[in-house]
Amino acid sequence: MESDLDLESEPEPTTDDPQPLRSDLEEEPQMSPGPRQLLIANPAAQRDTEDSQTEQDVDGMESEDFCAVCLIGGELLCCDRCPKVFHLSCHVPPLLSFPTGDWVCSICRDVLQPEVEYDCENERSSGANTAHGLSACDQRTCERLALLILSNILSAPFQEPVSPLARHYYQIIKRPMDMSVIRAKLSKGSPRHYSSPDQFVADVYLMFHNCAKFNYPDSEVAQAGRSLEAFFTSKLKEVFPGRDFPMAEVDSDSDEYDEACRATDGSFLWPERREQCHRKRKRRQSLKSRRHHF
Ligand SMILES: [Zn+2]
Ligand SMILES: [Zn+2]
Repeated sequence: MESDLDLESEPEPTTDDPQPLRSDLEEEPQMSPGPRQLLIANPAAQRDTEDSQTEQDVDGMESEDFCAVCLIGGELLCCDRCPKVFHLSCHVPPLLSFPTGDWVCSICRDVLQPEVEYDCENERSSGANTAHGLSACDQRTCERLALLILSNILSAPFQEPVSPLARHYYQIIKRPMDMSVIRAKLSKGSPRHYSSPDQFVADVYLMFHNCAKFNYPDSEVAQAGRSLEAFFTSKLKEVFPGRDFPMAEVDSDSDEYDEACRATDGSFLWPERREQCHRKRKRRQSLKSRRHHF
């Protein structure tokens, strides 16, 4: 029996003898070092628990050990209001430096009256960019939704683009979408920055639509996509109560959905988009009329 295993849990009996009573352990020096250490360690562990219990009473929670987005450890930023911790770059918006004072993540931060300012690109360049793109409040709300998706355990397959090696993926899925693209478009510095929450929401549903279209319905990824979509829809209703988002109501398997996506996408004139030739086709004027389905 490994002794570190013994430290973690109740020692398992190594023989068929009945497990000794606690008092026996204390009195018998010939016992293996594992259980001895356990006894020595226990009172300390007990104190630790009591201490952290006191801290918990103050803070109301204990922070997690791994980044809520990438599930990796390292230098992590702890939210003061929820157990989530983040790498600066994994948070939405990505932060440029560690904050000095109190800090709350964008899931917990008040979107109307933010308790803390983030040191992020949008803030640093706000002077030049406030005129276009999402309003400050919509920006914070979309960031919250994006972070809610990213910190959901099911989001792993959606965080990065599907591999170019995935057979036939890019033949079948004409408008790939993933959270890395959505994150980038939340940046006011992006030429494709959102100008309304509708565009953000449409991209999220496009991502789920692609997932449902490409993957077998029974597959793990398809199931994750459906669950995450339901999660997103519920959060969307929470943060935008009473507001209708056309994409949320479309049957994501229908062809109309694709058309609607293109129409929504094409209805905005982004000068910078001309650089991306594969986007040109989607700005066809004829598609605009189909928008009125909704
Ligand atoms: Zn991370
Ligand atoms: Zn939080």
